Amino acid sequence: MWFALTLILAVALVALHFWWREKLLAQSRRQTVEMEEFQRKQQQHTLDAKAQQQVLFNSMLEGLLLLDKNKKIYLANRAFKNLFGLKIELRGRTMMEALRVHELDELVKRVEAEGQVFEHELKLTEFSERWVQVNAAVITNSAGEREGTILVFHDLTRLKQLERQREEFVANVSHELRTPLSLIKGYVETLLDGARNNPEVAERFLKIIERNANRLDLLIQDLLAISALESGKMKLELQPTELHALVEKVFTDLHSRADNKGVRLVNELPAMTAKADVNRVDQVLANLVDNAIKYGRAQGSVTVGGEKTDDGKLEIFVRDDGPGIPAEALDRVFERFYRVDKARSRDQGGTGLGLSIVKHIVQSHGGEVWAKSELGKGTTFFFTLPAAA
Ligand code: ADP
Repeated sequence: MWFALTLILAVALVALHFWWREKLLAQSRRQTVEMEEFQRKQQQHTLDAKAQQQVLFNSMLEGLLLLDKNKKIYLANRAFKNLFGLKIELRGRTMMEALRVHELDELVKRVEAEGQVFEHELKLTEFSERWVQVNAAVITNSAGEREGTILVFHDLTRLKQLERQREEFVANVSHELRTPLSLIKGYVETLLDGARNNPEVAERFLKIIERNANRLDLLIQDLLAISALESGKMKLELQPTELHALVEKVFTDLHSRADNKGVRLVNELPAMTAKADVNRVDQVLANLVDNAIKYGRAQGSVTVGGEKTDDGKLEIFVRDDGPGIPAEALDRVFERFYRVDKARSRDQGGTGLGLSIVKHIVQSHGGEVWAKSELGKGTTFFFTLPAAA
């Protein structure tokens, strides 16, 4: 009896032991699974945060560079790589290894010494001419120890180019204004000094003064037109514009200039209607025909023609049989104040702005303008306009 009871107790104890052990094991397994799940989530969270950081850094317009405490690159965003034209992996390299720009290396040393450097301008010539502005600072931890350096690069190239263009423009305008103005002043002084007493001389001088005053007037009108076109203040009044008739009107306006040089004006343009601002297209045609007369051949001819292109645009040309434009100057003639032959252009009363105005007007209609020329044979200017519906 006792034996049986002891046996049952022993079996019960063993069973209890296994049950308890199994329960503990199950609990431990659950905890392990929970722990793994927690770690996985933590890792995912870190990965997400890193990916977000990466997206953020790479979407920045400014170049960003982080250096660790050993001055090795820890992070370089996409804009930084683009700015310096770098395709290699930069992590772990020093600035000199990655870029070979001594001035940047010097800058990092300065940041270390001074803690921060703001608005430092760098001209990079190693990778075509580029201008960058750098803001940099040392990164410290809560104990005030140096952890690394952050550098932010702002591309100033476009701004510098615009600044240079503006300076050139102001210099050109001043020069263009000063030339007729000093002629006017000189002749007025000579007249006042006694030349007025000789009627023949006085008349000649007064004509020169009148011509230069007209030149100034033209120049100011052209400058105002350029300024209105560039600032977008000149609003286009688009309407169906019949081009053959418009060419006839331009020919009538310019016929005395053509007659003086014995130039024949030929209108070959078929009837075609553009969706355009009639006054602005008048200005384009007048400029091109006037140039063709001015720079073309005496006793030559100027022809206007055109056709509808396959993509539904109207392509118009103005052709002369003059001396032509050298190939290297063909694109440049559309730049403000560019002249192939400065003295000749001025003698002809040109402002150097005509083709620039033509280009602006055509482009504001959504068209294009270009020129072809063969030396000794002539020049043809082409432009496109949208056709009326
Ligand atoms: P400009 O007032 O000097 O005529 P434009 O802008 O109209 O200024 O023209 C720029 C330059 O292009 C002219 O100075 C001239 O040298 C050249 N050019 C323009 N049209 C012709 C042409 N049909 N044949 C030869 N050269 C031309």
